[in-house]
Amino acid sequence: MRPDEIQRLADGIRDVQDFPKPGILFKDITPALGDGELFEIATRGLAETAGGARIDKIVGIDARGFIFGAAVAHLLGAGFVPIRKKGKLPWATEIESYSLEYGEAEIEIHKDAVGPGEKILVVDDLLATGGTAAAALKLIDRIGGEVVSVSFLIELAFLDGRERLGDAPVQALLTY
Ligand code: AMP
Repeated sequence: MRPDEIQRLADGIRDVQDFPKPGILFKDITPALGDGELFEIATRGLAETAGGARIDKIVGIDARGFIFGAAVAHLLGAGFVPIRKKGKLPWATEIESYSLEYGEAEIEIHKDAVGPGEKILVVDDLLATGGTAAAALKLIDRIGGEVVSVSFLIELAFLDGRERLGDAPVQALLTY
């Protein structure tokens, strides 16, 4: 991505104060999604985080990771695998719990979605505390995938989320 493209993409992210609850500054990606040029910049930027390595599958995290992840899979000629919130996947799953600000959440992946040694690019819209992505990495590791990069549109660096992701290479197009 060129510096002017990074700036244009940043201009397409809307800050919404106190959503979904007081004290949270929500990064709203819908203006960038709704603009064809910005969506192209974002998906190309995410695809470039593969660094030219062969990627067998994109793993997208429910739900905004699906939007970008599917487009990146198409660009790279890779398959797409959804990690979903509990209770949505119909086949045999691996499941992982993680803590949210209030309470617990669980995400799942189909056991046969990734084969041993397959090269994986994980895609989500935003890295905050890293709890979701850390749980996703555990699921992928359990079924044998090798993560090439965990790639986000946005990283809230002040929350230190990447420290929860161990040795996995973490990349973000925009950092706050
Ligand atoms: P976390 O597990 O804390 O890294 O949270 C990551 C998930 O929560 C991402 O998939 C985001 O979609 C969502 N999220 C967390 N904080 C924000 C925020 N400030 N703005 C927009 N989305 C957020």
